[in-house]
Amino acid sequence: MMSDGQLLPNALIPDIPTQIAGYSPQNFDLDYDGAVPASRALSRSLNIPAVRMLQQYRFQRFHSLLKRLGITTFSKPASHYGLSMILGGGGVTLWELSGVYASMARTLLHMEQNDGKYDEDDYHAPGYRLRETRPSQHKLSPYGVLDAAAIWYTFQAMEDVMRPGEEMLWQQFSSSQRVAWKTGTSFGFRDGWAIGVTPQFVVGVWVGNTDGEGRPGLIGVSTAAPVMFEIFRQLRTSGWFDMPSSKMKMIDVCRQSGYRAGQYCEEVDSMLVPAAGLRSAVCPYHQLIHLDPTGQYRVTAACELPEQMQHKSWFVLPPAMEFYYRSKHLYQPLPPFKPGCDNAEEPGHSMELIYPRPNARIYVPLELDGSRGETVFRATHRNREAKIFWHRIIHL
Ligand SMILES: [Zn+2]
Repeated sequence: MMSDGQLLPNALIPDIPTQIAGYSPQNFDLDYDGAVPASRALSRSLNIPAVRMLQQYRFQRFHSLLKRLGITTFSKPASHYGLSMILGGGGVTLWELSGVYASMARTLLHMEQNDGKYDEDDYHAPGYRLRETRPSQHKLSPYGVLDAAAIWYTFQAMEDVMRPGEEMLWQQFSSSQRVAWKTGTSFGFRDGWAIGVTPQFVVGVWVGNTDGEGRPGLIGVSTAAPVMFEIFRQLRTSGWFDMPSSKMKMIDVCRQSGYRAGQYCEEVDSMLVPAAGLRSAVCPYHQLIHLDPTGQYRVTAACELPEQMQHKSWFVLPPAMEFYYRSKHLYQPLPPFKPGCDNAEEPGHSMELIYPRPNARIYVPLELDGSRGETVFRATHRNREAKIFWHRIIHL
């Protein structure tokens, strides 16, 4: 998505209860952050943000991208995998997946010598024999399968993945060698994976039982990652990928939302981003609000003289994101409306249904005793004192 300008590296992504056409992904810790920067969503391997981003990107496109990157095992049509594709809903081999990381690393390493162009030969399957020379004819193109700057930011985020355990080994390691890495755990704890990449090496580790039997605790980060780090330690890699600055543009970014800065954003950083980021969306979360002279209440022209108003920019998340975000982050909720200014806001702005989503069809099964079962609806309101009324419309 960074390649396309659909996302900036630290843009906030919703991390809230999510149901898409009957599919309800959960994070590993079954928790919600409300909103999380894209880079953190990747380094923490959060499932919900990944699924929501794939929905935006479209799984059909992602399916064909995986093929172009060299994955040959997604043989069924995209609809067979659907959105679960992003969470391991399709099988890959360690060999091919490691090969994709190597291809991405080669793209970054050759950028300079190719004068900022992409070499199609950089994407190839791993081989057992050393390729002593690169082909003499290079097909260079201004566009790559993945944008180099997007790869660079992805590797940056993957370097921040929390390392397993508190043992001395890891601390020693982190100070001496930089590794971009990722782990995975397959459904039913059958396989633990870890793949790491440096400018010199890609290391892929699989841990599991050869008969495919699962075992609780067989989790990539605690089984495969320690082996991967030990291998990197023996390999003694060093250095890091150069920033592909010819593929980047300097833009103003809102520090709080990670989006392109808009007119109401307060803290703005200049940041080099993938060039397509010039087209990315402007911060949707900073808005101008109007307060009474004391700054305690929100007002409108209906209850306050315009010359008495204070105008202030405010960071406002949509109600559902806000509900989960404010329990974990410093967040200043919108001040209440001044008495007499009530109902100045359209309900959609202060209240949001968490479950079900609009137009959802819900199947409420019969219980064992034949009675109709129950379903729990959830809504959130910015004002914690607000009373919410539920109306049931029965179509006869
Ligand atoms: Zn902003």
